[in-house]
Amino acid sequence: MEASAKTTKQSKFAGKAHHLATPLLRTERMPHIWCPGCGIGTSVNCFVAAIEKAKIPTDKLAVVSGIGCTGRVAGYTRLDSFHTTHGRAIPFATGLALANPELTVVVYSGDGDLSAIGGNHLIHAARRNVNLTVICVNNFIYGMTGGQVAPTTPETARASTAPYGSYEPAFNLPKLVETCGAVYVARWTTAHVRQLARAMGEAIQKKGFSFVEVVSPCPTLYARLNRLGDGLDMMKFFRDNSEIRNQAPTSELDIALQGKIVVGKFVDREAPTYLQKMNAHLSNVLGERFNRWGEPTASGEEPY
Ligand code: SF4
Ligand code: MG
Repeated sequence: MEASAKTTKQSKFAGKAHHLATPLLRTERMPHIWCPGCGIGTSVNCFVAAIEKAKIPTDKLAVVSGIGCTGRVAGYTRLDSFHTTHGRAIPFATGLALANPELTVVVYSGDGDLSAIGGNHLIHAARRNVNLTVICVNNFIYGMTGGQVAPTTPETARASTAPYGSYEPAFNLPKLVETCGAVYVARWTTAHVRQLARAMGEAIQKKGFSFVEVVSPCPTLYARLNRLGDGLDMMKFFRDNSEIRNQAPTSELDIALQGKIVVGKFVDREAPTYLQKMNAHLSNVLGERFNRWGEPTASGEEPY
């Protein structure tokens, strides 16, 4: 769990001109741990821009991360942020969202954390339509732990534990979460910063389980093992090989090694959230003996 923003440690940037994002970043913790050319920082910049543009009240916004390179995001955001155990960001966030329905809860983690050890939690939170936003930075590999093959590694791509290339089928994450019940699903790369920030803002404001996949370069491991150049080379590849297809069927979103990457907003639909279903069902069964959980806000809107 991260401490409050108060700290005695001074930022090496203190007194220098500030980037627009700094009010929402714990600059006293900079420099960050991410490698040069890594896309995670770009995704965080989009996240901060999304919060500011959508004017999301930061005193009601919580960020939950798991373990891994992306799992460090919670530690760098000046929000109520929680760095949880491996694969358990979603159940932790589910508890937050259910206990305090007025909170806006964002899970921010990597493909390894969310779709491997945390895969079970991912599918069930989507199935239940828990009011959460999941931002999944997909760099096709386990970054922090040494470049092992992940459920998202494209077939034939090399990883430290697949030196002759992976022969496992890879997850198509948008298809997975749509099939389970997610009400909002988008994918952008770190070369699409405006679209990515817009998608993050929409996802955060959507009631129910929303999912944004961020295709991101890991130059240190994935690119090096597959001889794809540096972070800039990967960004150029994303720019030149992405195809924007909003509303594309998620069955068409597989990503092959150095293949075309379909990006866009694929799902935006309405469905009752977990708490709405719980309140409706238990009110129906128990009548006045049941106290609905989560009071409507001053504007009359239910918070979940
Ligand atoms: Fe980014 Fe890869 Fe470095 Fe992790 S190992 S910080 S994912 S470039
Ligand atoms: Mg990863």
